[in-house]
Amino acid sequence: MMKPNPFYAELKDSYLFYHIAQKTKAYVDAHPGTKLLRMGIGDVSLPLCDAVIRALHEAVDDQADKARFHGYMPEAGAPFLREAIAAHYQKRGIEIAPYEVFVSSGASDELGDILDLFERSGSSLIMEPAYPAYVDANVMAGRKIIHLPSNAENGFLPEPREEVCADLIYICSPNNPTGAVFSKEQLKRWVDFANQNGSIILFDAAYESFIEDETLPRSIFEIEGAKTCAIEICSLSKSAGFTGTRLGYTLIPKALVRDGVSFNEMWLRNRTTKTNGVSYILQKGGAAVFTDEGQRQIRENIQVYKQNAKTLMRALDTAGIWYCGGKNSPYIWLRCPMGMGSWEFFDYLLNEIQVVGTPGEGFGACGEGYFRFSTFGSPEDTIEAAKRLIKLLHKREG
Ligand code: PLP
Repeated sequence: MMKPNPFYAELKDSYLFYHIAQKTKAYVDAHPGTKLLRMGIGDVSLPLCDAVIRALHEAVDDQADKARFHGYMPEAGAPFLREAIAAHYQKRGIEIAPYEVFVSSGASDELGDILDLFERSGSSLIMEPAYPAYVDANVMAGRKIIHLPSNAENGFLPEPREEVCADLIYICSPNNPTGAVFSKEQLKRWVDFANQNGSIILFDAAYESFIEDETLPRSIFEIEGAKTCAIEICSLSKSAGFTGTRLGYTLIPKALVRDGVSFNEMWLRNRTTKTNGVSYILQKGGAAVFTDEGQRQIRENIQVYKQNAKTLMRALDTAGIWYCGGKNSPYIWLRCPMGMGSWEFFDYLLNEIQVVGTPGEGFGACGEGYFRFSTFGSPEDTIEAAKRLIKLLHKREG
């Protein structure tokens, strides 16, 4: 008899956002007509920028014209998009060749699929609090997981330690959920550690475009030595509002080799077998993001989210609540006041002021006692949520 993958039984029974949805639904069912202020899930609220919309429309018209029609696209991405992305990195002084860029349908797909490249019995180091998909994808693949907790004392930026080593090392910077960003010096220590141990870093750069401090690295390939130990997974979801449109890309340097085998060549082989490429239309839309006009327009949208971050940070300052993130990240990570647990604080905000956030415990055990706000909501809702937070928490703290 064909047996199911046994590792699925080891997955925690339900996903964080599913629990949140259940709790909020129960609240709305019991209080019909209530408007919830959703400061939880990391989905964007602004539409795609004009340059992208125009390119998408033009690409649809291409598909209606016999002379301009495109069928299957190259599995690793259209040359025009791979070249545009490589040029975007080159402008920032990072030498990436178009053949080192793999166009994807988004970072989530890649974070799971890329595990195909590594020995199945290997280990993965996951710094926590972490985006829950890292743990789940590794559980499904049957890999050994080494949890590396972080805390406020180390700024949620753990340092490498000889005794905590793994074949794969996940680094998410800016981090979801804490908003913490590794400095160049800190990342260099991880790169040196990976090179010394033969490990590979999976660098999740989904939030790089929110970094405003120019001394902080936006790509691991700003760090010397990274090309021999790192893969970077990027997404247009948060930088350009592609959460529902779906487009990302993965950078795998030619120099990334173990046992004489090139991971770049392996991934090309994998993609040619397991995908038939991303749609021409979406890749045209994606290419528009990397034009000067596209970059200017996505920056304008990011500024709206950054303004939301300021609004929430001011509210937390007023209420005297400890937090990090928000400045170089769309997430604000706060310590639950009055010694509350994460889910306790979730219920408190939902019941008292109808604000929905994300309990820190959902990102790993060391997230207990913390809470995440996202800044991707509308400015109106964010301003209202901030007012309610001040009223509720200022009163309680005082
Ligand atoms: N990586 C991190 C850290 C994320 O927070 C998310 C989405 O929230 C993703 C990856 C997934 O991005 P995508 O929409 O490209 O699948």
